[in-house]
Amino acid sequence: MLAPTPRTEAPSMDVTSCDVLVVGGGPAGSTIAALLAQRGLDVVVLEKEQHPRFHIGESLLPLNMPLLERLGVADEVAAIGMPKWGVDFVSPTHERTVAFEFGDAWDKSLPYSFQVRRSEFDHILLRNAATRGARVHEGWRATTLDLDHARGVAAVARDEAGAERRFEARFLVDASGRDTLVAAKLGLKERNPRHASAAIYGHFTGARRQEGRAEGNISIFWFDHGWIWFIPLADGTTSIGAVCPPAYLKTRETEVTDFFRQTIARSPELSARLEGATMTGPATATGNYSYRARGMAGRNYLMVGDAYAFIDPVFSTGVYLAMNSAFQAADAVAAVLSRPREAARALARFDATVRRGLDRFSWFIYRMNQPALRDLFMNPRNILRLQEAVLSMLSGDVFRPSPVHGRLLVFKGLYYARALARRLGGAVRPT
Ligand SMILES: Cc1cc2nc3c(=O)[nH]c(=O)nc-3n(C[C@H](O)[C@H](O)[C@H](O)COP(=O)(O)OP(=O)(O)OC[C@H]3O[C@@H](n4cnc5c(N)ncnc54)[C@H](O)[C@@H]3O)c2cc1C
Repeated sequence: MLAPTPRTEAPSMDVTSCDVLVVGGGPAGSTIAALLAQRGLDVVVLEKEQHPRFHIGESLLPLNMPLLERLGVADEVAAIGMPKWGVDFVSPTHERTVAFEFGDAWDKSLPYSFQVRRSEFDHILLRNAATRGARVHEGWRATTLDLDHARGVAAVARDEAGAERRFEARFLVDASGRDTLVAAKLGLKERNPRHASAAIYGHFTGARRQEGRAEGNISIFWFDHGWIWFIPLADGTTSIGAVCPPAYLKTRETEVTDFFRQTIARSPELSARLEGATMTGPATATGNYSYRARGMAGRNYLMVGDAYAFIDPVFSTGVYLAMNSAFQAADAVAAVLSRPREAARALARFDATVRRGLDRFSWFIYRMNQPALRDLFMNPRNILRLQEAVLSMLSGDVFRPSPVHGRLLVFKGLYYARALARRLGGAVRPT
């Protein structure tokens, strides 16, 4: 346990002092708040919404499971989740469906994950942070940050009644998601030059699911403007969402929900699974959301989860990356506060680890709509255990040292060879 800083007397009645101020009570913020409070630090969380609140991003990865265990919430998540044993890819150009099971990955010990309603999942994580001692304020929006304050950082928040609340902390964790509070303030946010995507999504009842334990599988349907997810939730609802280049969404001439239906109609395979299904509400569209900040940490702050970067949800990586970065960040913050001489090294290690995981996923994400990668996904072979390695990547196994990384290099070589062959000789016939 780290010794908490003796609580200094607040300079005025309305200033709350703490060791760590966390802005954002999504998966990243709740995770780091729970971990730091558990270490004995005085942690305050500001969350602008009241949980449970809607959030998109309902599919978790098998590598999420050990993190949920370590947080002590695995049973609660299992109670609200739909078991997800695998992923199906449906490609119109290959005229078939390929199903993968996570249990066939290199590490066979993490064979499943869950599909969750984020309102429930995020609420479990935020409650857990409070149970472990973090002071959680819902409905409080951080509006102003001072990263050069004498005590470390200062912030002003507005509560639900509109009153201003002042905070001072030794360290700030920005977990504000796509609001990217610190990156926006410091002008660090950059659009991803390699990748642009936008999404349109909604929920259905009565969608046709797979049989048996494959019922909870996520299905990915490629279509001529990107790909569409099919995520079965535990209460019978199915989440459907299309991820497309922003230019495609700009072709919309009708109302969003009509456009969404037209988009679904472009995938005959998905349309068949939605025959007779009913939409439970209007569709939602988001603009281009691929970005990264130029840095993720400074002397007395760091960014976790989407507050630092977001790539593309095709492999359902967002929540896992957010929570994993929070675990890495908790070690870094604890080191900064308890062993200031090691601060620079701890923050550099945090930075390098987070980037490495993002880069490993990004290689695949950038090429997901390329015919050569689709060929390889739709014609899986376990030569040299390459399929196990790819499944490990799909499970989220991108941070641990593992023979998987070497095999993924071989897989990349195969991809480049196939892409070249396609370019030189026209389409390579799928095997
Ligand atoms: C279309 C789409 C589909 C996705 N699908 C998946 C998926 O299937 N699986 C997956 O794992 N991920 C998916 N994601 C990504 C996933 O939703 C995010 O990566 C994940 O929510 C990141 O967690 P976070 O805690 O960093 O941010 P968030 O979950 O966004 O949490 C940030 C929190 O900060 C709060 N906040 C923001 N600003 C302030 C402020 N000023 N003051 C106080 N509070 C503030 C917000 O209210 C919010 O609760 C998807 C994303 C998109 C856009």
